[in-house]
Amino acid sequence: MKLKTKLANVQTWQEDPGEPPIERTPIQRQTPEMGRPPLPVAVAGEVPAESGDYPGSTEFRYWVAADAMSRASEFWGPLMPAGTTWNRNVDKVLTAQLDSGDDLNAYYDGQGVRFFKQTVAGVTVHSGESPDVVCHEVGHAVLDALRPQFWGVLSAEVGALHESFGDMSAILASLSVGALADEVLIETQGNPTRSSRLSRLAEQLGWAIRQIAPTAVDPDCLRNAANNYFYRDPVTLRPNEPASLLSSEVHSFSRVFTGAFLEALAGIFFQQPSRDGKALVEAGHIMGRLLVDALLATPVVPAMYAQVAAHTLAADKADYDGAYGMALRSAFIRHGILSPSDAVTAAEAAPQHMAAITGATPGRGAQLATITVPAERYGLTESFAVSTPAEQPRFAVAGADPAIGSLTPVDPERAAETFVEDLFRQGRVAVAEELLTPNAAVVDTTRTRTHAITRESSGALVLDRLLFI
Ligand SMILES: [Zn+2]
Repeated sequence: MKLKTKLANVQTWQEDPGEPPIERTPIQRQTPEMGRPPLPVAVAGEVPAESGDYPGSTEFRYWVAADAMSRASEFWGPLMPAGTTWNRNVDKVLTAQLDSGDDLNAYYDGQGVRFFKQTVAGVTVHSGESPDVVCHEVGHAVLDALRPQFWGVLSAEVGALHESFGDMSAILASLSVGALADEVLIETQGNPTRSSRLSRLAEQLGWAIRQIAPTAVDPDCLRNAANNYFYRDPVTLRPNEPASLLSSEVHSFSRVFTGAFLEALAGIFFQQPSRDGKALVEAGHIMGRLLVDALLATPVVPAMYAQVAAHTLAADKADYDGAYGMALRSAFIRHGILSPSDAVTAAEAAPQHMAAITGATPGRGAQLATITVPAERYGLTESFAVSTPAEQPRFAVAGADPAIGSLTPVDPERAAETFVEDLFRQGRVAVAEELLTPNAAVVDTTRTRTHAITRESSGALVLDRLLFI
């Protein structure tokens, strides 16, 4: 009997095209299978021929995006609890639109993922041509499938956690592609906490943004996971800073959690019997499983980073009998996500919360409590409601005080109000003309709006999310 073998191959970038001029060589991959449950993906438009494409062509970009969409789906899919589906208004299949207009941007809008292009210094940069960027956006959709509550809650720390999950998705989904893990170990001399093409996220998009706004992103990429940012309560941070400083802006603040994640990943890798590329890929799978299990069960609270960290320690106890506790505690302590004393407290309390972690299901969560923001604060004609991170913490933990011990978390109402203030100052809120008084404090900007004040069927106004960038 003649066996039908699949010979088709496509070309793609390993994890990013890199900074111009492009010196990287595309890699060969088997034609992606995009419809796999539980997280089927697609790329809009006609499917081009599989081979013979070259960087710069529409066909090449199609396969880069298709391969990246499917690698994220294939990484996260097996880790999803039974019954997980895409959320919100995604129509069964998460579809990428590759040419959504002129911008240096990409986003997940609860329907699909969108990518843009812009010509900078003579180079046209397509955000959808970077597997890092594609896997980041799919990461938003994956976390939204797991925890729809995170979408609308007004909290800098929850928003930053979503951004960090996007970056962790980029790192984890690409780790097993081609020889990336081996190359990273060569580049870092066996220590993946060091800066490498794995830790440097979206080098090409970062380069393009730097041509226009030199201090807006890291000097060598969009965001580098190899960093030493130490936790601060975002309520105490400014809403904007140059990239070298931490701000409460969600992408900036996400770097604290992603930095701890990279150290945890490396710590788990160091514990593997052979410290080779295969071991690094295996560490990635362990880390992915711990994150999914922890995030499924974490209540929505103001000190969200510390709460997720404590749940990760409990997930390690439940999934791996605590094998990676030291690696995880070290990473969270070094980045101030847990104080040393809270790391001890969380580890001690972890066994009694294992059942909550193994029993968590996707889409969990009740309606969050809301508060009303007065109309006059922003010069509007009507007050509006916002959701607050007001669930009961499972672990009594918070971020580290730079001096000693832990900070006292702010109450959920203050966490929400300061985030709303940040969004208005950053020009991220879309407000309809008829809601503005002549003296409204709505910043006039061409920036992409992430939030909008909308009227519910009850007639009340709410500030809700439009998209994750
Ligand atoms: Zn994002």
